[in-house]
Amino acid sequence: MSIFRKAKRIVVKIGSSTITSESGNLDLKKLESLIEDISKLKNKGFDIILVSSGAIAAGVERLALLKRPTLIPELQAAASVGQGLLIEQYSNLFKKYGLNVGQVLLTQSDTTHRQQYLNARNTIDKLIEFGVIPIINENDTTAIDEIRFGDNDTLAALVASLTSADLLIILTDIEGLFTDDPRINKEAKLISRVDEITEEIETLACGICSNLAVGWMVTKIEAAKVATFSGIGMVI
Ligand code: GLU
Repeated sequence: MSIFRKAKRIVVKIGSSTITSESGNLDLKKLESLIEDISKLKNKGFDIILVSSGAIAAGVERLALLKRPTLIPELQAAASVGQGLLIEQYSNLFKKYGLNVGQVLLTQSDTTHRQQYLNARNTIDKLIEFGVIPIINENDTTAIDEIRFGDNDTLAALVASLTSADLLIILTDIEGLFTDDPRINKEAKLISRVDEITEEIETLACGICSNLAVGWMVTKIEAAKVATFSGIGMVI
């Protein structure tokens, strides 16, 4: 695909469901294999920026909560406990490939306030210059947009735009956009390419949701709108 060939700076969004097991705990095997692939790309010369959720999942596990809480302050507290654990895993696993990571916690408002926007951009640019992989998550202590319904899809698109990325890759547990929810409707067909986000596409995206993550397909289409508005291709 030509958008891959031309890409130099890539934002990879890792949803909670991509790095957790069915029980909802962080799945180190999944994380390891993902990091192996990402390290290969990085060591080939691509600029890689990760937007990863999974803080709540890690926090729920550490606090030995029986299931993901439903109240926002509880989710925030779980994210607070889990964020450090998540970064610790990334840091240890990337080290095996000689790569360092830097944690960047952002909110959507950081992208709309000029000074905060510039500060965030400068930090990320410098991390990349130092050969470090920035690992971004929402600052769940002060913002709840992604906890409520985003699973970082919108944040990932805003980060792609903030960092002038060439490509946004959204990793998730659904293969892509389908004509219907493929887990409910076995006849659903994969739509391999979308050139324009029409009303029809937006309607198709409604109602597909992943159990653990808050990532509805609808937020992915919203992310695609933000990314493509900035001229950035997106792959689910
Ligand atoms: N920032 C949250 C996390 O890292 C967002 C995803 C979610 O709500 O599960 O877990």
